[in-house]
Amino acid sequence: MKRAAARIACASSLVATLLCFAAITPATASTPESCSGTRTPESFRACIASAARVYTALWQPLLTSRGLSATPPIVDIFTGPPLNPCVDATEGDVAVASFWCDKNRTVYVSSFASRYWTREYAREAKRQHVLASDAQRTHRTQHRLLRGFANQGAATEFAHELGHWVQHQAGIEAWYTERLMGTGPKAAAYQSAAELAADCMAGWVQGRAAASGTWRNTPFVRWANHATIAELGGDLTGMRTHFRFPREESVIAHGGPYSRLRLYDAGFALGASGSDGLAGCAAAAASYTGTEPPPLP
Ligand SMILES: [Zn+2]
Repeated sequence: MKRAAARIACASSLVATLLCFAAITPATASTPESCSGTRTPESFRACIASAARVYTALWQPLLTSRGLSATPPIVDIFTGPPLNPCVDATEGDVAVASFWCDKNRTVYVSSFASRYWTREYAREAKRQHVLASDAQRTHRTQHRLLRGFANQGAATEFAHELGHWVQHQAGIEAWYTERLMGTGPKAAAYQSAAELAADCMAGWVQGRAAASGTWRNTPFVRWANHATIAELGGDLTGMRTHFRFPREESVIAHGGPYSRLRLYDAGFALGASGSDGLAGCAAAAASYTGTEPPPLP
């Protein structure tokens, strides 16, 4: 079975369990933005600026309709361990991937992680003999896929971190934190619920951007999005033949590639259909992790 077909099937079965929420007013269609092009410091900055503008604008109506503040987050691109109130580099807690810092409402975007994610995914695809079909589907050469796609990959990382910003604005970040820091038997599951909800929200905003025509959506873009989410779930050494991601026995921390892609795809479908990404993703992640959904304003 081809990977894409397997993923679409698992997304639709999950979405089928979700309630459909009120449609969101589509963003005004204009020239679609993208993160295409070869990575240079300038194109990378332009890519993240585009993602911040487009993705934030898609979330803001959902927040304001609930009476919540929709003040955009600060966005900071880092090339080395950033000084910030959430990660203390002096204690060895060095940031590699992008992250959200609630203490200063900043999305820190790694300038180097996403190239690694997409490159490693392509290498694994080659080992599993599916890179040729990937290249055909994305209209790229195998050689090009193997060089990685830092820009679009970083946009996907950013979309996940922006999901944490939405959780923060909605007041549910603290709700998740209280439970994951607790001593209850499901404490660890609440961390997974918060993270998988953010993956779902990454999918939602990218699906919404694709459907509203505000972001160019091509087979290649979808490939880079999936490659990034899969690699964020850890290395792919447990891959089964035909590049199928093994289902986790139990979801740990952020979740593995199977869980992360499943929630991402569920979110993408919610976004494409105009469903509410905040309520829908909170419900999807709660259902998947066996936790209570957070109360929403
Ligand atoms: Zn996260």
